[in-house]
Amino acid sequence: MVTGWHRPTWIEIDRAAIRENIKNEQKQLPENVALWAVVKANAYGHGIIEVAKTAKEAGAKGFCVAILDEALALREAGFQDDFILVLGATKKEDANLAAKNQIALTVFREDWLDDLVLEAPLRIHLKVDSGMGRLGIRSTEEAGRIETKIARNKELELEGIYTHFATADQLETSYFEQQLANFTAILTSLATRPAIVHTANSAASLLQPQIGFDAIRFGISMYGLTPSPEIKTSLPFELKPALALYTEMVHVKELAPGDSVSYGATYTATEREWVATLPIGYADGLIRHYSGFHVLVDGQLAPIIGRVCMDQTIIKLPHEFQTGSKVTIIGVDHGNTITADDAAEYLDTINYEVTCLLTERIPRKYIH
Ligand SMILES: *Cc1c(COP(=O)(O)O)cnc(C)c1O
Repeated sequence: MVTGWHRPTWIEIDRAAIRENIKNEQKQLPENVALWAVVKANAYGHGIIEVAKTAKEAGAKGFCVAILDEALALREAGFQDDFILVLGATKKEDANLAAKNQIALTVFREDWLDDLVLEAPLRIHLKVDSGMGRLGIRSTEEAGRIETKIARNKELELEGIYTHFATADQLETSYFEQQLANFTAILTSLATRPAIVHTANSAASLLQPQIGFDAIRFGISMYGLTPSPEIKTSLPFELKPALALYTEMVHVKELAPGDSVSYGATYTATEREWVATLPIGYADGLIRHYSGFHVLVDGQLAPIIGRVCMDQTIIKLPHEFQTGSKVTIIGVDHGNTITADDAAEYLDTINYEVTCLLTERIPRKYIH
């Protein structure tokens, strides 16, 4: 994708916030539990390579990604010896590519292991479906057969076993506890306990630090965001959001009563009012549902009026502004804040989606 370096719309990533979130989380963890930085999906929109560097500086002991290509991107960027685990499904045809690059893969089907001819050792993490219903084995019998198959192939090492919780971000814990019990039953049925047992995402690691096992997969909260609004006030430390989204007014004008703006002419001025056009739109991830939400100008709320276009958006100003004035879409401006949580609430989605949606057309600038 082409990045808009010559357009005044940018994302600022505060590396210090990422380091602080990691350090605060490490203080909660028993010393022998490793923190892995989850950097899938371009690090939840924050930029995979720079986030990986920052996380490593702060003490992350490895990385989790969703797809093999993300793991290869880390290797290419110079993360030569770091632990990398692919959490999603990888095609059997690509097993050798992973093996040659020392990338650990998730396995959750017996047949994936049949007729696997490897040219290099491959580390495997067995995924258990303890209740998420997504990927994973579901019985002790399957676990036993997979353990046997892995033992028969001298290039395969069962390095890890893990599961993923469906409700760790809820205060009610009965489903979580059932999942933990299901997972433990499969874990203890194995002839040999793999070296790395891991279960916790951000929510579980923050609320249930005792179930860290050997490693945690720390994603959303590394970026300073709460795993859910419900647990925001139960978190053990204050999270520092790392991402801010800014743009500048490229055109400012005064509307007369009856003047309309944008496609469909859905907004019409009822009095004389100042408006500004912003060089950001749904192709950048500022989706059309942002229409009616607001941004910050000089610390004041300015509503998004009319329909958000592909590359441009129009806001209503409290008074005349100079062309080139800064606009905060997510972030802090003169003591007022718009968070990814605020945007998520308005859009009826989750903060994860708000940052993941921000496309690579917006340049990322790294501070601190
Ligand atoms: C994305 C993901 C995580 C990270 O979850 P957060 O809620 O962002 O901490 C952990 N484990 C798996 C399997 C995932 O897919």
